[in-house]
Amino acid sequence: MTNPAISVDKLNVSFGDSHVVKDLSFAVRPGESYGLVGESGSGKSTVLRVLSGLNHEWSGQVGIEGKAQPKHRDKAFHRAVQMVFQDPYGSLHPKKTVDDALAEPLAIHGIGDAQARIGRTLSDVGLPASFRFRFPHQLSGGQRQRVAIARALVLEPSILLLDEPTSALDVSIQAEVLNLLSAIRKERKLTYILVSHDLAVVGHMCERLMVMQFGRCVEEMDVAALAARQPQTAYAQQLLTASEGFRRAG
Ligand code: ADP
Ligand code: MG
Repeated sequence: MTNPAISVDKLNVSFGDSHVVKDLSFAVRPGESYGLVGESGSGKSTVLRVLSGLNHEWSGQVGIEGKAQPKHRDKAFHRAVQMVFQDPYGSLHPKKTVDDALAEPLAIHGIGDAQARIGRTLSDVGLPASFRFRFPHQLSGGQRQRVAIARALVLEPSILLLDEPTSALDVSIQAEVLNLLSAIRKERKLTYILVSHDLAVVGHMCERLMVMQFGRCVEEMDVAALAARQPQTAYAQQLLTASEGFRRAG
């Protein structure tokens, strides 16, 4: 059997006295898109921060493409695994152009041919080459998030960790960016973990998902169960009903 792209075994994370991720285990297959869903504060971002190497205080096991990961990751890891955050304003430096933002990771990793790579990557995220010399404030929210995605892609990673990548965007723009992410995954055969508080987003983007509550796994299911409205647990059912109610009201 091929190795999972990502494996998490008995992950625990505490901040001081508060134990926010509890004995979490799951595995993501190569090329799969896996959703983490749960209310605010359930520990979703903390899991992604551990996976991406941003959080060093954890116990348990994290494996990437069959390799057990130390707390401090090596350079090869940071090339293979990239994260996209919710707030594209916060993740882009206000005084750096799009070109700077994309050139930086290439320089850090000593990758040549920057001009061609940047042009290609911008075109892959649907931005014209002329955007290279714009600053974040000259871009719309959706365009900024496309730049953040381009920045993650420019190193040609195999795994993207997406933390509520469209939650900060206007509803009218969200679907565009989600569709872009889906298309990119297919084209580049990437593996995704997508964090969202919105079950509809995960239902559209993922093959399987985990419902989290208070740092624990409540239920793991495939999207067919979600589409058939057949979660196994009362909590997941409640979350589903709430998201549908919200949609109707909205
Ligand atoms: P989610 O992404 O599901 O909203 P988070 O992973 O951000 O949840 O947070 C889970 C819990 O951990 C929350 O109670 C949050 O307040 C707490 N938390 C997250 N990061 C920190 C931190 N750096 N220091 C202390 N508490 C934190
Ligand atoms: Mg979060």
